[in-house]
Amino acid sequence: MTFTSSDIPGHEGFAAPVLPTGELASSASAFTKNFVGYQAACSCGWADQRRYPATPDGAKETEYRWWSRHAASLIAAAPPSELVIKSNLLCERIVTLAAERPLAALTLLSQVESWQRTLFDQAVAAAREASVSWAQIGEAMGISKQSAHERFRAHVSS
Ligand SMILES: [Zn+2]
Repeated sequence: MTFTSSDIPGHEGFAAPVLPTGELASSASAFTKNFVGYQAACSCGWADQRRYPATPDGAKETEYRWWSRHAASLIAAAPPSELVIKSNLLCERIVTLAAERPLAALTLLSQVESWQRTLFDQAVAAAREASVSWAQIGEAMGISKQSAHERFRAHVSS
């Protein structure tokens, strides 16, 4: 059994059997009948430190650990996959439009640019109200903490 979220496709959580040596087995395979517990782990290489009993309930506990200790913070910074698809589609359509009707593409792009500014300010304000750091805001936008702060400090209260 694995734990997944469509918003973080590179992360598949699982209850990793803990071998008597303390090492984690990579999956609950037939080779790991002799194990002493479970720890939450992820296909990306993340592994939790807390060990749970080698029981079905113990395995279930690891799912909650994967969510609370690993997936939740990743999902917080991952746009929903359906919106990523729509955003990519809009981009492709504008590329086509620019080739066929460049003036129409420019009109549409100026609309996108105007609501983009407002939405950036709203999202940054919401992040600051939720106590998100300038470093995390910068990371989400692919810019430095300093750049994020300089760009938005006038638009948000803190
Ligand atoms: Zn992961």
